[in-house]
Amino acid sequence: MRYQDLSYWLSSLDAPLTPRPGLPGDTDADVVIVGAGYTGLWTAYYLAAADPSLRIVVLEKEIAGYGASGRNGGWCSALFPTSLPALARRHGRDRALAMQRAMHETVHEVGRVVGAEGIDCDWRAGGTVVLARTEVQLGRARAAVAEAREHGLADADLVLLDAADAAARCHAEGVRGGTYTPHCAAVHPAKLVRGLATAVERRGVRVFERTPVTALRPGAAVTPAGVVRAPVVVRATEGFTPALPGQRRAVAPVYSLMVATAPLPEATWAEIGLAERETFSDYRHVIIYGQRTADGRLAFGGRGAPYHYGSRVRPDFDREPRVFATLRRVLGELFPVLGPEVPVTHTWGGPLGVARDWAASVGLDRSTGLAWAGGYVGDGVGTSNLAGRTLADLIRGEQTDLTTLPWVNHRSPRWEPEPLRWLAVNAGLKVMFSADEAEQRTNRPSRRAAAFNHLLGH
Ligand SMILES: Cc1cc2nc3c(=O)[nH]c(=O)nc-3n(C[C@H](O)[C@H](O)[C@H](O)COP(=O)(O)OP(=O)(O)OC[C@H]3O[C@@H](n4cnc5c(N)ncnc54)[C@H](O)[C@@H]3O)c2cc1C
Repeated sequence: MRYQDLSYWLSSLDAPLTPRPGLPGDTDADVVIVGAGYTGLWTAYYLAAADPSLRIVVLEKEIAGYGASGRNGGWCSALFPTSLPALARRHGRDRALAMQRAMHETVHEVGRVVGAEGIDCDWRAGGTVVLARTEVQLGRARAAVAEAREHGLADADLVLLDAADAAARCHAEGVRGGTYTPHCAAVHPAKLVRGLATAVERRGVRVFERTPVTALRPGAAVTPAGVVRAPVVVRATEGFTPALPGQRRAVAPVYSLMVATAPLPEATWAEIGLAERETFSDYRHVIIYGQRTADGRLAFGGRGAPYHYGSRVRPDFDREPRVFATLRRVLGELFPVLGPEVPVTHTWGGPLGVARDWAASVGLDRSTGLAWAGGYVGDGVGTSNLAGRTLADLIRGEQTDLTTLPWVNHRSPRWEPEPLRWLAVNAGLKVMFSADEAEQRTNRPSRRAAAFNHLLGH
C-alpha cells in the first residue's frame, strides 16, 4: 500500500511520506502515546510545551496521519458529538454551555498554533453553512437555532439564514434557507497532521513510525521491537482501537467516505459560491459534508458505508463503489453545474470511532496511569485539540477549567457483543437512509428517525 493513495490530502503533499525510523528497542519515557493522529500529537504538543523536560514517546503503527487525521473532510469545527440539549440533560445547562464554549475556543486555538508553528495547512476560518433544501429541513434549521438560543448561544454563534442569504454563501439547487456558524475553519487535514508531527519533534518528542503496539498495560506499551516503559500510557487510536487486546467493544469503527473533483474553473465557483471557503452540509439525516479546497477542488463526503462484523478495520473497507457513486450523484443534485463531465479524481475513506452512548471522552485513570481520548464520531479535528490540552493538564496533575468539563473521565458503556453490534449499527444507518428517502417523498419529518435519535439520547 502506498500511503499517498489513502486520500487526496496525503497524495497532495509536497514532502514525501517517508516513514520515520521505528522504535529501536526497549525504552524508558515519562509518557508514551499510542497513535500519531491529531489526538496523540496534540497531547504530545501540549505536554512538551508545558514541560520541555518530559520524555515523550509517540508510537505509530504506520505513519503520522495514516488514520482519519490524514483523510478527513477538513472541518475544524466546534461540533461535539453529544448535542447541547443532550449535554444539558446529563450535566446541567451551565456545564453544557461551558463544553460548547470550550469547543468554540478550540477552533481559535488550533488557528493560533497553526500560525505560531508555521504549519501551512490552508487554514481558512470561513465558518459553516448548513443548507435546508426542503420544508422539513427548514424546520430542523429553525429548531437548531431555537435550541441554541434556549441553551445560551447567540446569533453570533448560530444564525438562521433565509433563502437568499443561504444561497449567497452556497448556491445549491433548491436552497430555502439554512444556518450559519462562524465557528469552523476549512483545513487541509494531512498538512495539519504532518505539520504537527514535525512541530512536536522540534520540541523534543520522539515519534517512532511503523511500530505497532500489540498490548497496552499499566506502565508499558508493548511492540515487536521492544517495550516502552512509562508511568503514563495514552491510547490515541480512535477507529483502530478495537484491534487492541481487551478493547474490541470500546468503540465501533464506522466508515466515512469522500470524493474530490478536479480543480474547478473560477466560473464554476462563481456559480457555487463558498467564497470564504465555508464548509457546508445540509439538514438531511445521513451526514454529508464538503469543503472548497485551497486548490479549487470540491472535496465532499458522507456516511453510509456499512459497519463490518466484529469491528474489523481493513484497507479495502475504505473503498465502497456504491457509496462513491451516491456521493457523486448527490454532488450533482446539489450543484447541477457539476454535471457528469466534471471528473472526480480521488475517492477514499477511513474509520472513525463511535462510543456506545455517542459520547466522546477524555480521561486518565490515576490508579493505572492509563489515559485515553476519542469517540469523536466525525468531529475529531477540533475536538482532538481540546482532548490534547485536557490530557496534558490531567497528566501533569493540574486542575484547570478544561479538566472539569463534562466529558472528562466519562466512561461510555461497551458495545454489545456480536451479532448484536452489527445488527444495531447497520440498522441505525438504514433507518437514517430510509428516513431521508421518506422525507423527500412525503415532505414530512420522519418519525422513525426522531425515535432513533431519541433512543441514542441525541
Ligand atoms: C473520511 C472522514 C472524514 C472526516 N471528516 C471530519 C471532519 O471534516 N471534521 C472532523 O472534525 N472530523 C472528521 N472526521 C473524523 C476525524 O478525522 C477524526 O475524529 C480524527 O482524525 C481522529 O483523530 P485521532 O488521532 O483520534 O485518530 P486517527 O487519526 O485515526 O489516528 C489513530 C492513529 O493510531 C494509529 N494506531 C492504531 N492502532 C495502533 C497500534 N496498535 N499501534 C500503534 N499505532 C496505532 C493509527 O495508525 C492512526 O495513525 C472524519 C473522518 C473520516 C474517516
